[in-house]
Amino acid sequence: MNSEEFRQRGKEMVDYIADYLDTIEERRVTPAIEPGYLRRLVPDEAPQKPEQWEDIMKDVEDKIMPGVTHWQHPRFHAYFPAGDSYPSLLGEMLGNGLGCIGFSWAASPACTELETIVLDWLGKMVGLPEQFLSFSENSKGGGVIQGSASECVFVSMLAARAHTIRQLKKQHPFVEEGVLLSKMMAYCSKEAHSCVEKAAMMAFVKLRILEPDENQSLRGATLQQVMQEDRAMGLVPFYVETTLGTTSCCSFDNLAEIGPVCEEFGAWLHVDGAYAGSSFICPELRGPMRGIEYASSFNFNPNKFMLTHFDCSLMWVRDRFKLTQALVVDPLYLQHSYSEKSIDYRHWGIPLSRRFRALKIWFVVRSFGIEGLQKYIRDHCRLARRFEAHVRKEPRFEVASPVHLGLVCFRLRGTNDINQKLLSSINASGKLHMVPASLNDKYVIRFCVCRQTATEEDIDYAWEVIRQFATDVQETKPE
Ligand code: PLP
Repeated sequence: MNSEEFRQRGKEMVDYIADYLDTIEERRVTPAIEPGYLRRLVPDEAPQKPEQWEDIMKDVEDKIMPGVTHWQHPRFHAYFPAGDSYPSLLGEMLGNGLGCIGFSWAASPACTELETIVLDWLGKMVGLPEQFLSFSENSKGGGVIQGSASECVFVSMLAARAHTIRQLKKQHPFVEEGVLLSKMMAYCSKEAHSCVEKAAMMAFVKLRILEPDENQSLRGATLQQVMQEDRAMGLVPFYVETTLGTTSCCSFDNLAEIGPVCEEFGAWLHVDGAYAGSSFICPELRGPMRGIEYASSFNFNPNKFMLTHFDCSLMWVRDRFKLTQALVVDPLYLQHSYSEKSIDYRHWGIPLSRRFRALKIWFVVRSFGIEGLQKYIRDHCRLARRFEAHVRKEPRFEVASPVHLGLVCFRLRGTNDINQKLLSSINASGKLHMVPASLNDKYVIRFCVCRQTATEEDIDYAWEVIRQFATDVQETKPE
């Protein structure tokens, strides 16, 4: 393909995407296919000779689309939103068009510098204390774009692990690092995302999973008690993972209580706000941030609730040297003469190669403005409250946990079994898509406002579908 053909095909592709999004409602939200469907439609071998563009695009519609789950569909209410907006899409396109790999400042200075600048913008937008910002006087902190919240959690755990081993080594210089590691304990709530367990597994770190309170919030007293017990047994509490906006029900751990406990024990406090973090752009939603000044690191995903495409997880640290000390390796071929005066983001994460992801954030923030992003978040919160009001009006249903942001957990009063049947019949129909969660051993259905331009009609339509299926399920006699 030469540049002339690219101009033509590129314009056609923009039309294809715009048509897709404009007419997405005509498609079924989830595919009606079985595993292995594509294997039967696509050849086993790659083509020897170039194929016609028209043939490739025809296969997109005929073979790929039937297997796509349409996350931007107005009937998609599963998981959390998959960030999407035209400015973000165009920012992605430009970033890929430039095709640079910004692992160091020298490898593409604008790539690094824009990343530092937008991370400071976003840090200020969500109300992070100055200690997390790069361009703040006397700050050792700073922000970086990672690929996912899972990476942020893992990398923060690695930084805490390396720091603690260094400290312990000073006290016990002749003890093997592996022995020191075997004494170290990390903590999180039962409601933390499974990526914490995965991080602990990969970092060879012991993890204690703690009971949250009845509102699914991890409390300071619970943490204090187990840390004391562990210390009394000769263990070293070194890392606490907390969540603002849990995956099951968008609950918030109590940072204001947990922070001082972490300080007392010298433990690294990581705060994962994967979904809810974006909502702190609205000052009235910042209540759960109380205590954030105790955090050693914080992350949130604009690719969930800030209209930006995956991948885009932002991470801030209070002390960037603690992060880089865990991750620096410096071969000659990557060194450059400005290392002392600039940031090399390859030392802030796992991959060497890095895409120009700051561009899409810059496009989104400038195109919507802070006010546009606030409006989007407030609209989603308002629509979730509308859905909650529907649930509360009908006595056969119950709201299963306090409603936060765009997520409502609800259930039919009755057994887990009937709720499971309700959700499977709705999902099988392709009329809506939602996923379940387990709260206090109860099977609940999560309804999340996902679409960028979700309307009151979308919420009312979804509620009607749910009511009808509930009646069907309740009227079906058990076998
Ligand atoms: N943390 C929380 C609270 C989440 O809700 C999720 C995913 O929904 C994750 C972490 C994992 O995110 P990622 O896919 O970016 O690793």
